[in-house]
Amino acid sequence: MLAERLGSSRRPIRDALLDQEAIAGLGNIYAVEALFAAGIFPLVEAQRLHASAWERLAGTIVTVLQRGIDNGGTTLKDFRNVEGEVGRNQDDLRVYGRADEACPRCGAKLVGFVSGGRSGAYCPRCQPRPRTRLVR
Ligand SMILES: [Zn+2]
Repeated sequence: MLAERLGSSRRPIRDALLDQEAIAGLGNIYAVEALFAAGIFPLVEAQRLHASAWERLAGTIVTVLQRGIDNGGTTLKDFRNVEGEVGRNQDDLRVYGRADEACPRCGAKLVGFVSGGRSGAYCPRCQPRPRTRLVR
């Protein structure tokens, strides 16, 4: 369970998701996309997520990973899938690598960020910075 493994972490949720001991193989791109799909601000401390947010996030991680597999893997730089083909999933990314572009859901300008040396992007309207302690 995500919440059991990461629920006490003070790290930003996006960074916590990249902890390979917690979730094997969840890459940065998928973490960024899953947080967008779940409507969760990527830099909120993991410990501030309510159970309902963890549940939603677990669902969107599965959805995003499945979409990546269906599209043959995400292509960035030198990635090739086992057949040596360039994956098609980059065209399907909603926010990753799209800072300053329009949010595909609401049209607001996407915001880029760097945390823990890894880049990402989020929608300030769909993934607002939480004002209360818990993110539901
Ligand atoms: Zn949006």
